[in-house]
Amino acid sequence: MDYKNDIGYRKQTLKKLLYNIQKNEDLIVKALYDDFKKPEFEAVLTETNYVISDLKDTIKNISKWAKPKRVFPSLLNFPSTDYIYKEPYGRVLIISPWNYPFQLALCPLIAAVAAGNKVTVKPSELTPHTSAIIAKIVEKTFHINHVEVVEGGVEVSNKLLAERWDYIFFTGSVSVGKIVAKAAAENLTPVTLELGGKNPCVVDESADLKLAAKRIVWGKFINAGQTCIAPDYILIQKNMKVNFITFLIEEIIKAYGKKIDKSPDFARIINTKNWVRLDQMIERDKIIFGGETNHDKLYISPTLIEEPSLESAVMREEIFGPILPILTYETENDIHNIITKYEKPLAFYIFSENNSFAKKLIQKYSFGGGAVNDTVIHFSNKRLPFGGVGQSGIGAYHGQMSFDTFSHHKSIVKKGNWLDLPMRYAPYKDKLASIKRILDWL
Ligand code: NAD
Repeated sequence: MDYKNDIGYRKQTLKKLLYNIQKNEDLIVKALYDDFKKPEFEAVLTETNYVISDLKDTIKNISKWAKPKRVFPSLLNFPSTDYIYKEPYGRVLIISPWNYPFQLALCPLIAAVAAGNKVTVKPSELTPHTSAIIAKIVEKTFHINHVEVVEGGVEVSNKLLAERWDYIFFTGSVSVGKIVAKAAAENLTPVTLELGGKNPCVVDESADLKLAAKRIVWGKFINAGQTCIAPDYILIQKNMKVNFITFLIEEIIKAYGKKIDKSPDFARIINTKNWVRLDQMIERDKIIFGGETNHDKLYISPTLIEEPSLESAVMREEIFGPILPILTYETENDIHNIITKYEKPLAFYIFSENNSFAKKLIQKYSFGGGAVNDTVIHFSNKRLPFGGVGQSGIGAYHGQMSFDTFSHHKSIVKKGNWLDLPMRYAPYKDKLASIKRILDWL
């Protein structure tokens, strides 16, 4: 078992992982349902199938990604051949959240294994069925000294964080991200922090309102709004609001029917704590659609809130649930005043047919990533780095960037011996003018 140096071994274990995931796909989907009634379609699309596709892509490309990369040498070092070696960090800790509990534990695990690390994964305690099946699959696939799953809550997480690691990959809330960063700082351990934020969704007067409503409803209410890149709030041009709300309501009913609590396509809130937090966010006098809640069933229906105050609970923190506040603007200054009230978000969405308006917003505001005329889908392109900026996160992954995240990039200059230019060596006397000329020329 030489996972550090033997790429064949890494590939072989990843193929075994693929086999075990495919074999257990039904059980994984069932575990996700048992945890919070994640609809089968969403479980396959955003969890099992996403992981399988990531795994296949990694197996296909691992040899290419792991190979030392030859880069153009610097003339200053002539003659040389220069390389970047990808070195595994060593012992890696992955701490994952509950909202996409399979995908967000497995995708970093796949990349960390591909890059040649020894891996410990701590999945979320809030999704015990999914965590158990992750542990079972990992146990069946990997040697215990290569990859292990440690199940448990905050206490277990803190115990792990007290150890010395070579890399920590954390996905979760901003507040816990700070705890992880502090623990990592103790040993100067490098980190990726995949966090959250309040993601704006701007809709201007040129937008195709009906299509915008359809795509926003999908991105907001998938996983019952418990998605880190879900649109958090709408900022719509004032004159368009009434029509837009009509379209939003139509699309919600089209997607989930009139009895949404009976729909097999709408998930539940993860636990009582989050249900209570969300229930308290709903300003009852500002509801324009939805607002039905059932504590015993951890159900909150898709809920539209009209013009809440910026000081209200729903506008103070990340919502992370099926509540959508709709705010309006008249001038670009109004947009600016709202967006800059918050930390840099993880995602930003613009619905507009006006390219220069969309481009202006993309360049003006700092955010992790996003989309024009859609929501959430930027996540699915392996060639786009996924991550936050500022308080929404540090680092980015997906595709080859995931492999690179778990590798130290080691620079090597291999110097030729057939020529040894004397210029750089002491004594420097009389050499300054010539070296300046050479540096200018370079
Ligand atoms: P969380 O921060 O509460 O928990 C994440 C992990 O940290 C869990 O494994 C948990 O056991 C552990 N943890 C919790 N409290 C801890 C503590 N005090 N000390 C040490 N470890 C602790 O997050 P969550 O509720 O599971 O997930 C929701 C949050 O995650 C949202 O803010 C969401 O935006 C964010 N998120 C981000 C991404 C992303 O890719 N950027 C993806 C999913 C979720």
